[in-house]
Amino acid sequence: MEKKYADIVLPVPLPRLFTYSIPDEFAGTTAPGRRVVVSFGKRRLMSGVVFALHNNAPREYDTKAILSVLDDNEVVTQDQLALWEWIAAYYQCTVGEVYKAALPSGLKLESETRLYLNKDYEEVTDLPPRAYALINYLADNKYCTLDKAAVVTELKNVYPLVKRLIEAGIVLVNEEMTASYRPKTEQALVLHPKHRNEDALRDFFDSLGRAPKQLELLMTFVSQCGGVDKAIEGQRVLRRQLLAAVDGGSGAVAELIKKEGLAVEDVQVDRLGSFNGKIADVNPLSAVQVQALAEIRAGFEDGKPVLLHGVTSSGKTELYIHLIEETISKGRQALYLLPEIALTTQITNRLRSHFGDKLGVYHSRFSDGERVEVWKDMLTEGRFSVILGVRSSIFLPFRDLGLIIVDEEHDPSFKQYDPAPRYNARDVALLMARRASCNILLGTATPSIESYYHARSGMYHLVELTQRHEGIQLPLIEVVNTQEAKRRKLMQSHFSPRLLELVTKALENKEQVILFQNRRGFAPYLECSVCAWVPRCIHCDVSMTYHKHTESLVCHYCGYTETVRTRCGACGSPSLRTVGFGTQKVEEEIKVLFPEARVGRMDYDTTRGSKGYEKLISSFEKGELDILVGTQMVTKGLDFDRVSLVGILNADSMLNSPDFRAFERGFQMMAQVSGRAGRKNKRGRVVLQTSDPEHPVIRFVVSNEFKGFYEYHIAEREMFRYPPYYRLISLTVKHRDRKILQEASAFLGDVLKSGLGNRVLGPQEPPVSRIRDYFLQKILIKVERTASPSKTKEFIQSCIDQTVSKEPWKYVSVIADVDPM
Ligand code: ADP
Ligand code: ZN
Ligand code: ZN
Repeated sequence: MEKKYADIVLPVPLPRLFTYSIPDEFAGTTAPGRRVVVSFGKRRLMSGVVFALHNNAPREYDTKAILSVLDDNEVVTQDQLALWEWIAAYYQCTVGEVYKAALPSGLKLESETRLYLNKDYEEVTDLPPRAYALINYLADNKYCTLDKAAVVTELKNVYPLVKRLIEAGIVLVNEEMTASYRPKTEQALVLHPKHRNEDALRDFFDSLGRAPKQLELLMTFVSQCGGVDKAIEGQRVLRRQLLAAVDGGSGAVAELIKKEGLAVEDVQVDRLGSFNGKIADVNPLSAVQVQALAEIRAGFEDGKPVLLHGVTSSGKTELYIHLIEETISKGRQALYLLPEIALTTQITNRLRSHFGDKLGVYHSRFSDGERVEVWKDMLTEGRFSVILGVRSSIFLPFRDLGLIIVDEEHDPSFKQYDPAPRYNARDVALLMARRASCNILLGTATPSIESYYHARSGMYHLVELTQRHEGIQLPLIEVVNTQEAKRRKLMQSHFSPRLLELVTKALENKEQVILFQNRRGFAPYLECSVCAWVPRCIHCDVSMTYHKHTESLVCHYCGYTETVRTRCGACGSPSLRTVGFGTQKVEEEIKVLFPEARVGRMDYDTTRGSKGYEKLISSFEKGELDILVGTQMVTKGLDFDRVSLVGILNADSMLNSPDFRAFERGFQMMAQVSGRAGRKNKRGRVVLQTSDPEHPVIRFVVSNEFKGFYEYHIAEREMFRYPPYYRLISLTVKHRDRKILQEASAFLGDVLKSGLGNRVLGPQEPPVSRIRDYFLQKILIKVERTASPSKTKEFIQSCIDQTVSKEPWKYVSVIADVDPM
């Protein structure tokens, strides 16, 4: 029997699904996983995904009817819907928020709904006069938002009118959504039918004797076809591709078309482009790699996640390629997750050469149309069997996932901070693998404490690669005591004499250098040298960062910008000085010290544009830069062949932070950036500058002893009840009024403590206690690993509800972050 109601996921932050009635006309087409358009509240139209069908009328409200069904097939699979529910429960958010993050925007209709005129609508005569105002407006404009429609029709409640127009087929709401994945076409050239035999073609060539450009074009065309025979068979060449090969050929192409030498055809093209190169075989593995591969397979057979701990350049990526090959040859799909878009370029090229058109790449620097295309392809068992992507690619509609690789598994960028869902893609991938009986491999040179702990305890299977491929040695790390050098007045600004000596040598040898400074900006802040006054943001409780090239002060929390002051805001003194140092200052100083060197800088500020990263990486790869100065971005898994020297300018700044992960992150960043030195050609060198050479973390970095570091550090985690022994949930409480906030968060802290006791820490004012005019308080909850996520969520939510249900606190908001990084 057909069901009367549908529960629908809508992109709103309310913790439930919404029930709509299914009108007769959509009775056959409304099904789970398909998208529908509904009205929400008074005026909003939105699209959502059908979660389930049933016959239970909701008791609390009258249902509205579904307005339109957008799909003939499911766009979201049952497995995905179940995953959304799990993510919402574990990460304490709503299914609607997961939906928002999961679906590419080309498949969604959000609050700014656009209305379009149906060009083929039939005249309807009994419409109210205001309807014609809207129709006329739409006839003159491409579209209009629902809000605009209210203005045009001078109606407060425009929705009933629009609904009528939609029902009458006059107004369309889904035009935009279908347009974004309409197939894309492009002009291709083909030999004109007249000339599709050898004699005719030869005559035509002869006739071009006095038009060298046209001759050149035609010859290039034939060679791009793959020879005369292919051209005669009617092989097509994209016009764009032909013109790319012949300088200034567009006039000549037009001539050739006019002379009926070439003809134009529209062809459907992939937005994602296709691969024309040769498919390379996988590389034969070395003996140790073969051994590691066998151990990985054994782990998979045990049904366990495998942690591959392999030093940089040990061939982890080679192993991944072998495993992917095995997986797809069985007809299953593989997902390769990376923490950063910046890393996808290098790996894409490597995977593309083995997997060609089977490789799909998925991340936010691709246009929405491209992302929709990957999504749709996966629903139809299309061409992609290998997906390379960043965290959002866990949301793709996989049909038969056989392998997930989480490369650089330790990287904090797998975690999404804002907005909800605040998920960690590595951890969600582990869950997906468990549910789908799919193999999962976590790879890294510097395992996260959590993953290594699970490997030690037997929950994961541990596989190790301890040597670089072909016996290349790991870099030699020299520690330079900056305190000592400072005392003897040997430091030149931030560079020790030893570092400068080695930079000089590297440049003489035409080798490249990476300088790592974990802070962006020219100098973190300005300070009055008379009274120590520091300019602060007017919206946030934080000092403004000084940016030299724009002579401005910028708040890194809210973006608020001021021009640089010339006088102290407190005492009026003109002697303001810069304190601290960042990548910009390093770049500037190194240019002064080495005026001949070509210096590039890689940090958040220089890589914001859509191609920023790629340009920098590729010019460094090509040797157009000698020195690359950067923040933690340069530490991540990039492979550069000519880097012989890495300088870590200030190790102390990484280790002296109060965060319980400071040592772990410090070890990871230093070991990772060191790994950039001396790939392939010869042993690299690292200069590590610190005022504390005896610091245990530094000693473990120098001796490249991850295990030693782990043992030294894990005891502390256990003692202080941190992960991996306990799970953390951090609550951020926000309000514009400090006093209301303090009262509400104290109350919330108390109710939490009534259930959880001393495992609730705070409320406490965070180091930055106000952002964008909202005051903040933090509460940290340590949860037993065995506690049920849904029960925990329920309890915390009930405490929050108790708090915000009190009248003075009703606008207090509480944000939960589960497993914060
Ligand atoms: P990792 O991922 O551990 O950093 P890679 O897989 O990138 O290591 O290997 C480092 C370098 O050594 C790469 O240039 C890679 O092509 C090369 N390499 C590793 N193993 C092999 C192999 N079995 N055959 C050929 N080249 C290899
Ligand atoms: Zn002052
Ligand atoms: Zn600010």
